[in-house]
Amino acid sequence: MQNLTILGSTGSIGTSTLDVVARHPDKYRIFALTAFRQVDLLFRQSLQFKPDFAVLLDEAAGVQLRALLREAGSTTEVLSGVDALAQVCVASEVDAVMAAIVGAAGMRPTLAAAKVGKKILLANKETLVMAGNVFMDAVRVSGSTLLPIDSEHNAIFQGLPRGYDGDMAGSGVRRILLTASGGPFRNTPLSELQNVTPDQACAHPNWVMGRKISVDSASMMNKGLEVIEAHWLFNASAEDIQVVIHPQSVIHSLVEYVDGSVMAQLGNPDMRTPIAYGLAYPERIASGVAPLDLFKVARLDFVEPDFERFRCLALAYQALRVAGTAPAMLNAANEVAVAAFLDNRIAFLSIPYVIETVLNTLPVEVVGSLDDVLLADARARNIAQQYVLQLSK
Ligand code: NDP
Repeated sequence: MQNLTILGSTGSIGTSTLDVVARHPDKYRIFALTAFRQVDLLFRQSLQFKPDFAVLLDEAAGVQLRALLREAGSTTEVLSGVDALAQVCVASEVDAVMAAIVGAAGMRPTLAAAKVGKKILLANKETLVMAGNVFMDAVRVSGSTLLPIDSEHNAIFQGLPRGYDGDMAGSGVRRILLTASGGPFRNTPLSELQNVTPDQACAHPNWVMGRKISVDSASMMNKGLEVIEAHWLFNASAEDIQVVIHPQSVIHSLVEYVDGSVMAQLGNPDMRTPIAYGLAYPERIASGVAPLDLFKVARLDFVEPDFERFRCLALAYQALRVAGTAPAMLNAANEVAVAAFLDNRIAFLSIPYVIETVLNTLPVEVVGSLDDVLLADARARNIAQQYVLQLSK
């Protein structure tokens, strides 16, 4: 029986994780569930999964949830605040942590889990984008098992030799081929992109996801963040990672070897597959995902990305090459810009401008500690917010 903490249990990844967990009551027990402020859903999840702890970042929401659970006769203890998120990750009872908070907010508790050697199922890519070296050092020092949940990285993990140690050349790996759907605007005329709405950007052709990552998929910043994520997870340089647009989202990524072999992982686009893989690793469990019907799929297409259309992808490659605090600044500026777009304050095409302005304004520093990252993050948000204000006037 594994004891799990699910950070971000009310989100898209969080609910999919609970769906898989519910299929295997003999294997997994929930130690803690956490959310930002969605009281109702966390209340229902707490009644169903009976965790020891339910954590809400928002204090007022915590008070509300505590009252509801008490009234329902639940023994789940409610905590709130940012420290409680880390507390339910490092507790000695916890075997594994699903890191599925969206954005930079997921970094601290995920890092806390890594420092004490927990098995980490990493969905929160921002932790690696912002603080890749700090996080990977923590994983190495503590001996924590790190399993990528992002479907592409999970596919690459499955395509690499078992026990891969970060030595691409030594393992006979030539390149990583990171697939991308191209999002809802892959073929939209550039002249129409200026006026697309948040709902159009969130209508992903293949995946059902949270709104922030959906916008990132539409701009291909999501793929850019994933390039940086792959760099840290697999010790691959920007030149080692080729993004391939594959509109069907059936191949989740590929690993090319020097002998010409290319290993791909295929499956229906449903996050329960990588989640189940991470939960059961190194074994396999049922995920509830329908078997892939190759006859229905019929064809698989591949297209090279257009860096003019997807400027966010170009900016992410640039930040990876510059290194230091550049990826953290890229991520912070993107979060501010995407929130402003979702709020109808700026246009979709302004997102890369906000990011580029931040990258061109702030000096890049070396990352020695988490504080360096947090400082760069705060400065980048500040500049991005000022620029968003100008754009929205
Ligand atoms: P969602 O927006 O659906 O869910 C986010 C979760 O995080 C919710 O539980 C939310 O709580 C919680 N949360 C939000 N802000 C905070 C905060 N400041 N402090 C604490 N908790 C917070 O996101 P997704 O599930 O789509 O994505 C989660 C992560 O997984 C992201 O990093 C994303 O990039 C990554 N990912 C997602 C995929 C997907 O298919 N969705 C695929 C691959 C990676 P509340 O509900 O109360 O707001």
